[in-house]
Amino acid sequence: MYKGLIERYKDYLKDIYCQNIITLNEGNTPFIKSNGLKDIIGNCNLYFKYEGLNPTGSFKDRGMTAAITKAVADGSKNVICASTGNTSASAAAYSARAGIRCIVLIPEGKVAMGKLSQAIVYGADIVQVKGNFDQALNLVKEAAKRLPVTIVNSINPYRLEGQKTAAFEICDDLGKAPDYQFMPVGNAGNISAYWKGYKEYKANIVIDNLPKMMGVQAAGAAPIVEGRIIENPETIATAIRIGNPASWDKANTALQESQGTIDKVTDDEIMEAYRLLSSREGIFAEPASCASLAGLIKYAKNHDLSGKTVVCILTGNGLKDPDTAMKRNIILKNISADINDLMDVLS
Ligand SMILES: *Cc1c(COP(=O)(O)O)cnc(C)c1O
Repeated sequence: MYKGLIERYKDYLKDIYCQNIITLNEGNTPFIKSNGLKDIIGNCNLYFKYEGLNPTGSFKDRGMTAAITKAVADGSKNVICASTGNTSASAAAYSARAGIRCIVLIPEGKVAMGKLSQAIVYGADIVQVKGNFDQALNLVKEAAKRLPVTIVNSINPYRLEGQKTAAFEICDDLGKAPDYQFMPVGNAGNISAYWKGYKEYKANIVIDNLPKMMGVQAAGAAPIVEGRIIENPETIATAIRIGNPASWDKANTALQESQGTIDKVTDDEIMEAYRLLSSREGIFAEPASCASLAGLIKYAKNHDLSGKTVVCILTGNGLKDPDTAMKRNIILKNISADINDLMDVLS
């Protein structure tokens, strides 16, 4: 049976592979061909990597199996992270499985309900910070100097090691690397991880091409696009509501080496992509994830992608954020339990 990504890609995870792997069989997520968007994006071969189907509903599980496995192997009994939501859900789940304590710092009032409920049920110590993610991460770094805790944010290098396996899966499914990969960028760990993965597969001659890495930030939280720290980032896509990305330099390297670009999309463009993805493709992804498709739609307006193989990374599950879904114009038809009433509303 499938035993998770550390077992599957152990040849590429030699520092992490060990006897006691902490896993929920993460990874191995669906790679889905798009068939409903040709009128908008033209004739490219578009695929979605649906990371929302990881065990806690986001790609963070790839990094967390690696970070928690390593923390436990090194004897750590406490882990800590700052989170816009998904990191805390994932850290809490893998810590529960490992039987260690998990402390999460979240920006007050800015975490989607599904994510917070996960951290609660998995039994994390949850600390709400009056401040944003960047401030919470600074607190985490300070706390780790004073307490015996392992940081499991993406500044933990094992996180990126785990996350790079998503690039391997895409290549294994396609038989090559895509021409373009669009993905949301928040703290910028994931874009750095994918690029590392693609480069390792090329170095081992599993693939002979590399994709252009196309980062997408939310317009109200676009520090890399604008080349400056954003003090008060704002966007409906809370998972990428970050003003000072921890992996800024690594992301710039990925963009330069791959000859990719990074652009920003408005919340309206994100919500349009959210609507298209769910209503035309049958895929429910959280707003931050939809930034990838919004970025592709924007790019395709001025660039011909005919015949190109393009992948959009859908980083998290739409069920994480029911509030955003319920804000859409909801048209429920109400009837009594009577077949004539039913016929009336359906005619
Ligand atoms: C964490 C997260 C991101 C951003 O990833 P970074 O590595 O911080 O750039 C995007 N989408 C979702 C759903 C996330 O949970």
